[in-house]
Amino acid sequence: MEKVKIMIDPGHGGRDPGAVANGLQEKNLVLTIAKHIQQTLLQNYHVDVRMTRERDTFVSLEGRAELANAWGADYFLSIHINAGGGSGFETFTFTKAGSKTKEYQKAVHEEIATRLYEKDRGMKEANFAVLRSTRMPAVLTENLFIDHPKDSLRLKDATVLKAIAQGHVNGLMKLLRLTPTRTSPAPAFKGERAYRILINDKQIGAYKETENVLAQVEQHLKTATKIEVQQL
Ligand SMILES: [Zn+2]
Repeated sequence: MEKVKIMIDPGHGGRDPGAVANGLQEKNLVLTIAKHIQQTLLQNYHVDVRMTRERDTFVSLEGRAELANAWGADYFLSIHINAGGGSGFETFTFTKAGSKTKEYQKAVHEEIATRLYEKDRGMKEANFAVLRSTRMPAVLTENLFIDHPKDSLRLKDATVLKAIAQGHVNGLMKLLRLTPTRTSPAPAFKGERAYRILINDKQIGAYKETENVLAQVEQHLKTATKIEVQQL
């Protein structure tokens, strides 16, 4: 079965920080969320994932859509943080979106809603460039307000960013009716077993959960010359 292609689009980047307030920059928050989504999808599901940017670089709006179109992505998911004096989260499709896109929006929106207790501002439509120029179902999410005191505190909490990412993942997987390829870790990996990870002979941490071990390995794969996983 051919893998579903998902293009994740962390908004802004490089010289465009997006919204800035309370010591936070939108471009950094959305990259963190997008990377969580990418990692979770690749580790647990039979899907192809690309990102319009993997680091702090500038990519134009048309450039983002073009990357998705040229790849032939099946779904486009743009991640943003809101600003301008409100609170809570909302999601967008293009104003002329079809029913398939609306179904996609609903799935993602509902799953984010179950993980965020802040105000649900609703499912909306807008004439945003990345939604207009992409040729596949595309959804843009605005996750909390960077300039709202309480929202910004939540955005400083790594577990909240992970919860937002997980909402996106679960929405997509519900829509695609995909189940994890690796079911819950084998019993042998539960209990007290733990693993120490050494990068270039230097210990960076010890982990019990398989997904955390794999996440660390993946994070260092491109830069490390030697990666060791030792059972404790
Ligand atoms: Zn934005």
